[in-house]
Amino acid sequence: MLSTADGAIDGAETISPAELARRMSFYEIGPDELACLVEARATLGQVQQQCTQALHAHMLQFSNLSGMLAKENSLGVLAEAHRRYFADMTAGRLDQDYVDNRLRVGYAHQRIGLEPQWYLGAYRKYLSELMLALYRERSDDQAFLQTYDAVLKLICFDMSLAIDTYIHADRQHIVRLKDYAEQVIGSIPCGVMVIDLQGQVCTLNPAIEAMLDLPPGGPRQVGALVREPAIGRRIALGLERSYFHEEFVIANGNRHLRCLLSRAVLTGKEVLMLIAEDITVPLQARAALHDSEERFRVAFGQAAVGLAQIARDGRWLRVNRKLQQILGYDEAQLAHMRLQDSSLEEDRDADEQAMAMLASGACADVSRDKRCLHKDGHLVWTTVTMSPMRASDGELSFICVVEDISQRKAAELALLHQATHDALTGLANRALLQDRLDQAIAFARRAGHIAAVLFIDLDRFKNINDSLGHEAGDDVILEVGRRLQMCTRAGDTIARLGGDEFVLILPNLASGDQVAPLAQAVLDALMEPMVLGGHEVSPVASIGISLFPRDGADRQAMLKNADTALYRAKDRGRGCFQFYAQEMNARTLDRLALESRLRHALERREFVVHYQPQFDVASGAIVGTEALLRWQQADGSLLGPADFIPIAEETGLIVPIGEWVLRTACAQRAAWQAAGLPGVRMAVNLSVRQFQQAGLEAMIEAALRETGCRAEWLELEITESMLMDRPDEVAATLHRLNAMGVQLSIDDFGTGYSSLTYLKRFPIHALKIDRSFVLDVTTDEDAAAIARAIVVLAHSMKLTVVAEGVETQAQWDFLRAEACDQVQGFLMSRPVAADAIAALLAAGA
Ligand code: C2E
Ligand code: MG
Ligand code: MG
Repeated sequence: MLSTADGAIDGAETISPAELARRMSFYEIGPDELACLVEARATLGQVQQQCTQALHAHMLQFSNLSGMLAKENSLGVLAEAHRRYFADMTAGRLDQDYVDNRLRVGYAHQRIGLEPQWYLGAYRKYLSELMLALYRERSDDQAFLQTYDAVLKLICFDMSLAIDTYIHADRQHIVRLKDYAEQVIGSIPCGVMVIDLQGQVCTLNPAIEAMLDLPPGGPRQVGALVREPAIGRRIALGLERSYFHEEFVIANGNRHLRCLLSRAVLTGKEVLMLIAEDITVPLQARAALHDSEERFRVAFGQAAVGLAQIARDGRWLRVNRKLQQILGYDEAQLAHMRLQDSSLEEDRDADEQAMAMLASGACADVSRDKRCLHKDGHLVWTTVTMSPMRASDGELSFICVVEDISQRKAAELALLHQATHDALTGLANRALLQDRLDQAIAFARRAGHIAAVLFIDLDRFKNINDSLGHEAGDDVILEVGRRLQMCTRAGDTIARLGGDEFVLILPNLASGDQVAPLAQAVLDALMEPMVLGGHEVSPVASIGISLFPRDGADRQAMLKNADTALYRAKDRGRGCFQFYAQEMNARTLDRLALESRLRHALERREFVVHYQPQFDVASGAIVGTEALLRWQQADGSLLGPADFIPIAEETGLIVPIGEWVLRTACAQRAAWQAAGLPGVRMAVNLSVRQFQQAGLEAMIEAALRETGCRAEWLELEITESMLMDRPDEVAATLHRLNAMGVQLSIDDFGTGYSSLTYLKRFPIHALKIDRSFVLDVTTDEDAAAIARAIVVLAHSMKLTVVAEGVETQAQWDFLRAEACDQVQGFLMSRPVAADAIAALLAAGA
């Protein structure tokens, strides 16, 4: 190894003393030549500078060299080198130091990139320049030739050393490339083996040694080296054939190798090349993946919970059997559906939110209880847990675990029901009542509505328990619960607080006026008799009522005040209700009092019938009377029908009262007959309720028979509206009455919507023009026209026309001029007591 001026010369080798001697002999350099150069030292020293300048000028003409010399002070350094060279050349020694110096200089030139042809060219330039300079300086030709020959020999010797450095550098370069290639091949995980056509292994890397278990330093003959039969056989074939290319996989012990064996040409030589890859790990990974996929597939399919993979938009991508059972759809159907399709409308936003949260990475999983829509339409309670899953391509989906928790929910609900409901009746208990009342108050406050609390207590319930036993008592409580349910709306709450105490909550009421009728309905419903063990029991209850917001701002106040009202109701006498606030009581009480008095009016004989006469327009004689009901009050005053008939209609009391009027009027008519008074028609008003009552004809027949009134004396007044509802049945009823001989008239005609032609189908005898038309006939042309038309049309249908409410002479005159048949009105007579009519009849008015 050589060393440079500043250190080692990489890989450059000096020449041995034997080689030096050999070369000196070959270049014919001996002591004479060296002595000659020592002698020429002065001359050469003189020409050296000249030669150097000529060389520099020569080099600068060539761009590749001038570039190198352009570097700072390069020429100076070069000139100094030349000076030293001439000094060495003429020193008279050609020893190891001289040689090493030349090699070092040559190596330096080679390193700066001076190619050998240019280097040798520079020596040539020296020789030419020296030849000329020496020739000029010669003492004689012999001396010139001798000196120049010595210079020529030494410079050629130096050139041989320079070429040595280049050869050496190239060799080094090749060695490095070879090392590099060997390192690469040695370190790659692929096995490489190159075999020449004689079957000698030329290249073998460690990977293939390991793969084929080749013994280190084994034979180079491939047949002896490679023992693996599947490869050995193929190598033999590959060496035989002129073309060979095969890819194959072999198992060598635990290893799996994928091999490529092919004929190739390397550096002009045909070879057989084996490249092998150990695929044991990928194969094992694939097998492991397959096993895990299989395990997943079986576990997924067989899982006792519903499992699914769903896309980012909720589409079902993969579902297991259990999930299909839970939702009732098969796999093919679910493939066209989304998670949201099985959700209730109100849950869909939550579904989207959950998916968005998982997609954003805000949480690792989302779990919640929700109801799923089964294909059949019923709801299934489930716990749905979703986790995000990123595929290797980045695609996001969700793994969804759906657990059917309907049984647990049912148990929870049952428990909750137990905790919130009364065991005997199944009604709400105190806890639920409080909750519902809070809700009702909150709702009413928001909506500006009214909420009512009704505290209901059965009066003397203890008696039932004591006398009939607890079982009977329970039956009463159960029945009361049922009846309360019948009286209430869907959103109302009925609670039992224990014993015989019940509470009703009526939320969301538009006005407090609705409460009293309901309280009354509850009392009435409870009062209906019930039979227990052969005993008839009519539970009587008392009710205390508080209204939100008037009677209390919160639950406690509302319950306390309803309770207070209940005690007041009990004080007042049982079987009634009481509002917490007084003015509400007063209003409802008036009507209720009237109603309850009306119930007793018949038995207390408080009704009287007055009669209003009807006159024939042409003769002025009384031809009929209309029976009109009045209610005598305790103070002797008479209440008109307008004040109580509507309540009687509502409560159904009109049916017995109407029958009483009919019997009274018929009896009266028979009495006048018996008294020998002139015979007149007796008109009696029939109400809708009466008219619809089954057995109407039988009732009338009985009344006529029992009072001795003849059918043709009786006229029944019905209104237009009664004809409208189910006209066929009405016509049949009227025909039967007509067949009995009873007269029929339409009261208040003109106020309804029936046309005269419509009336043709009914057996009607008379029309009574409503008082409102008669009132205006003399002042309003329209009223006059209507009255006139009614008269003309009625006559064309052979009906008698009666005008009601005639109060003035002008009205009378108009009606007479229009040929109205009969009139009834204050102008002639108000409705009066039967005696007064008798007097009129007797007077022959
Ligand atoms: P209605 O059947 O049309 O009876 C005629 C009403 O007109 C009577 O009123 C009578 O007093 C009144 N009236 C008669 N002439 C005049 C008049 O010149 N001027 C004024 N201002 N009024 C006159 P009333 O007795 O108050 O009866 C009102 C209504 O009550 C009756 O109208 C009838 O619909 C009904 N009503 C009366 N009694 C009974 C009954 O026993 N049963 C049924 N169902 N309804 C009855
Ligand atoms: Mg009438
Ligand atoms: Mg009338």
